[in-house]
Amino acid sequence: MELIDRLPVSLEAGEIARRLRLRAGRPGSAQLQDVIELAESKIHLRAVYEISYVGTKNAESVEVGGVVLRSRVLRRNLGRAQKVFPYIMTIGPELEKTAASIGDLLKQYYLEEIANIVLERGVAWLSGWLGERWGFPGLSNLSPGSLEDWPLTEQRPLFSLFGGKEKVIGLALTDRFLILPRKSVSGILFPSEEGFTACRLCPRETCPSRSAPYDESLAAENQ
Ligand code: SF4
Repeated sequence: MELIDRLPVSLEAGEIARRLRLRAGRPGSAQLQDVIELAESKIHLRAVYEISYVGTKNAESVEVGGVVLRSRVLRRNLGRAQKVFPYIMTIGPELEKTAASIGDLLKQYYLEEIANIVLERGVAWLSGWLGERWGFPGLSNLSPGSLEDWPLTEQRPLFSLFGGKEKVIGLALTDRFLILPRKSVSGILFPSEEGFTACRLCPRETCPSRSAPYDESLAAENQ
């Protein structure tokens, strides 16, 4: 297992304001800089990852690092891949504790969204860094729970790839397959010439994190 402590991801007020649909002069916009500074002081973005090899593939599953992962979408996308990178990333528990202690619902919402943005940017950073390090022009990501095809229950086999070593950075999986601290994410980064994104297969209509439009025919191909 490899550990990266303090991923170099910074918070940009303009990007956060756009995601929160905040314009200058609107209620809440004046508070934003304070909330960003508060978030910066509480976030400790860390990740663990493995370098794993793809093994046996069946119609609905694929072996990664000797562990069977059940997902047709993952199996299709790892068709030609040999080396992949399972990871778990967290911002740590401090931001959540601070948000819970604040009685201001608007600030709590901002902190929640900032945490989501930091995790997204963290995954993008890790993807770029690993791609450069291992000579892949592009790595794509799939996370358990992002699609029906790869449900949250698959956190269990994904975590098993780390053999309990993820506890080094305080990560744990609950009986309901949620990661603690809550503001954490897991997934597999894999080489993809076409550039896979789960959003193209996800019909959810209102998602502030959507990175690509839903593609109905591609989703049907992956049924
Ligand atoms: S649209 Fe939203 S929920 Fe669906 S895969 Fe993309 S980020 Fe996840």
